[in-house]
Amino acid sequence: MKRKLKAIGYWKSIFEPEFPDPINFEDSNWNVKDKELVLEHLGRGKSIADWMGISWCRYRCGEKDMGASCMSDGVYIFPEKLSHYLEHHHVRLPDEFVEHIKTYEPVKILSNRSQYTIDYDWWKQQQGFNNHVTSKSYLAATDEELIRFEKRKTTN
Ligand SMILES: [Zn+2]
Repeated sequence: MKRKLKAIGYWKSIFEPEFPDPINFEDSNWNVKDKELVLEHLGRGKSIADWMGISWCRYRCGEKDMGASCMSDGVYIFPEKLSHYLEHHHVRLPDEFVEHIKTYEPVKILSNRSQYTIDYDWWKQQQGFNNHVTSKSYLAATDEELIRFEKRKTTN
């Protein structure tokens, strides 16, 4: 039986419209201690796979160094630069993940994503905390990419 990893922090795009939108997770009042704990934990993740190309910030803030790997702590799998959203866009991660970190005991991390099955269901169901959204996020890294995608949709 393959071990299971729970996905977290994969954001909505034209290719994954079923994922959550980071703007719904904004909380500028997030407890600083918890946030630091989470950032520290994310930084300790080990790379277990390469994502499809380099990731891009859903806020199009101009950050180029968004990583291309999937990281894991042996229980969760997350994008390499998930921390960027916490550090620059007030994104807060679900309490369940914070609790997981507080009780985390290091587990052996297998070196390859294919050794795991990945459960995206929990993450897709996350609603976030932000009910009065004022910021804007994007479904593609550039407008050109969005337009190309829309064209392909209508010709199919
Ligand atoms: Zn950004």
